[in-house]
Formats: sequence, structure tokens, C-alpha cells
Amino acid sequence: MKKPVYLDYAATTPVDPVVADEMIKFLTPDGVFGNPASRTHGFGWQAEAAVEKARHQVARLIHADTREIVWTSGATESDNLAIKGAVEGRDRPHIVTSLIEHKAVVDTCKWLESRGVEVTWLEPQSDGRINVDQVSQALRENTALVSLMMVNNELGCETDIASIGKMLREKGVMFHVDAAQAAGKVEVDVEALNVDLLSLSGHKVYGPKGVGALYVRRSADVRVASQIHGGGHERGMRSGTLPTHQIVGMGRAFELASQQLDEERASLEKLRKQFLESLSDLEGVSLNGSETHRVPGILNLAFEGVDAESLMLGLRDLAVSSGSACSSATVEPSYVLRGIGLSDKQAHQALRFSLGRFTTAEEVEFAGSRIVDAVTRLRSVR
Ligand SMILES: *Cc1c(COP(=O)(O)O)cnc(C)c1O
Repeated sequence: MKKPVYLDYAATTPVDPVVADEMIKFLTPDGVFGNPASRTHGFGWQAEAAVEKARHQVARLIHADTREIVWTSGATESDNLAIKGAVEGRDRPHIVTSLIEHKAVVDTCKWLESRGVEVTWLEPQSDGRINVDQVSQALRENTALVSLMMVNNELGCETDIASIGKMLREKGVMFHVDAAQAAGKVEVDVEALNVDLLSLSGHKVYGPKGVGALYVRRSADVRVASQIHGGGHERGMRSGTLPTHQIVGMGRAFELASQQLDEERASLEKLRKQFLESLSDLEGVSLNGSETHRVPGILNLAFEGVDAESLMLGLRDLAVSSGSACSSATVEPSYVLRGIGLSDKQAHQALRFSLGRFTTAEEVEFAGSRIVDAVTRLRSVR
């Protein structure tokens, strides 16, 4: 077993070796290195064909049409393009979002707010989910966009996007969904969900970092203004030479995800059970976020009476995350945990463990015993 044991799949995943093998073919002189926008020779045509194949692979996972996929540098850029692009040029736009979105959404909305856009910040239920009535009550006649995530990256809980999408489509309000943590983990069907814009990232799904996509529904009602100007790539929505190897990698990774979704979910469900059982001797352990509406691989656990930063120091053999932000002098508790109503003290007792494709039963057992030891030790010196 390799140490430290990696239990931070929600932060990033390693590139699947199958994916890496594919990517290498699109870099070197003997590979397909051409510019996909070169129209005058075979180097370009081959690269373009590879990009279009990958577009199909990504579209397929989310039940979209190939023409609805716009390549970006990652979900951060997709979120920026979706939100800024949707409100640009609108008269007095109003946005509805929540307190526990990814920073890529929170900070984009805050920036727009500083420039006069009205933003309603929904408070999630204590289980980390937003319900359709909350969204519906927040709508105004000038609401231009609702932006909500499908699966929360810190908690692993899943919001009922389908109900919200149905309501918003009936009211004719544009709906953006950050699905970076949902793709490859749960079924994402943009048609069934009634979503207009959807953000994806390569590196959360065993693809490379630095590549992502934005789904833009083909409809006269859905327009996003370009945020990066240049050669007019991606039907004018996102200029810049396409990184063929990154895109091919994301495509292959999303194809693998389509093929393995159910199997992988079942195996993570088993590991999650094993992990929780290995902690069952400990008192005062609670799960943050919904018990039932969640992906199996992400577990945010609070250990009563234990400071999470000290616990992490005691878990040097495990790579985990606390969600806290270190500013210069103090450790700020996670805004997501605060957002679901936890006190600062409670938020400081929580750690996120995230399991993935390469996690083994042996690693889970090892992690469990280390956590039990460390928590017991910290509590005894209290
Ligand atoms: C990781 C993540 C992002 C950012 O994706 P990048 O590709 O790293 O820019 C956005 N939203 C969520 C929910 C994420 O988990």
C-alpha cells in the first residue's frame, strides 16, 4: 500500500492510465500535434477529428448534442462563462444562487454584485440541499439566471436539480448547474433535468487538469456572451487554440465514466460502508450533509470535541481535506459548513474524506484504524 493514502478525490483525481496513454498520442512530432483550427492540411484535420470525437464522448455522458459542448480550461472558467455570459447585456439582471456554491460561482456572483447585479443568496436546508420552493420564492420579474450545483464538493449531498429545472423551464428562467462533482458519479441528463447551462471539469473524472466544458442548450432563449475574445473558436463563445491532448483526455475519461458509472458507484458504496463501520467504535462521529441524497465517495465527518486541524496533523499517513481557509493568522472555518448552519466550533471539528476509483479495501481499513487511534489520543489529552 502506497502512503500517504489518498483520500482527497473530491479535490482532484489522478488521470486514469488508459486516458494518459491516449493523451500522449497528441503531442509529439510523430503524433497528432496539429492545430485543430488549421483547415489547410491533414495535421489540422486529424486534430479536429480527435477534438470532435471527444466532444461526442463528453456530450454522451450528459445526454447532450455534440453542438452543445463548448471547451474551456476547467469548471472555474465554465462557471464564469455561464454566469457572466448569461447576464451580460441584460437590463437590471437578478441572479439566484446559494451560500454553499463552489468559489467559482460564489466569487463570480459577488463580483457581479459589486457591479450592480442583484443577487439572492439562498440558505440551504441543514442537510445541504436547496429545495424547489426556496428557488421559486426567490424569483423576481427580472431574474435572469439561477445557478446551483448538483453535488456539493465538500458535503457530497445532491440537490434535486430535476424538480428545480422543471419549475424554472415552466417559468422561462435560465438555469445553470455546476455538475463538476456530479458527472461520472450520478446520472446527469441535461434533457431530463431541464438545464440550460452545465459546467464540467476534466480532472474530477480521471481526466487531466486544465480542461473543462460548458454545456449550452441549443435554443433561441439561451445565449451566453463570450468572455474570452480572439479567433472566434467554439462558435464564438470561447476563443483560444484548443488543447487537443487535454480535450482527448477529457473525452476518453468521460467515455470511461459512462461505461463504469453503475459499477463504480456500487463499489464506492461498499467502501463507504466499510469506512463508516471501521469508525463505529468511536462515539460522537456525525455525518454532515444529507444521509440519503448523496454520492457515496464524499464523506464530511465531524468528530465531537476534536479540532480537525490537530486531527489532520495526527493523520500524516492520510491525504484528506478540512475545507477551512488559512488566512494570515487564523484558520477560517469552511463557509460551506457555516452555510448549512454549523457553528464555528462545529465546523472546526469536521474533515472531508473522499474515495475514488483507485481506493482499495486495504486503504480504507488502514484509514479507519488511523482515525480511531488519532481521535482517541486527542480526546484523552483534552
Ligand atoms: C473542482 C470544482 C470546480 C472547479 O473546477 P476546475 O476544473 O478545477 O476549475 C468547480 N465546481 C466544483 C463543484 C468543483 O468541485
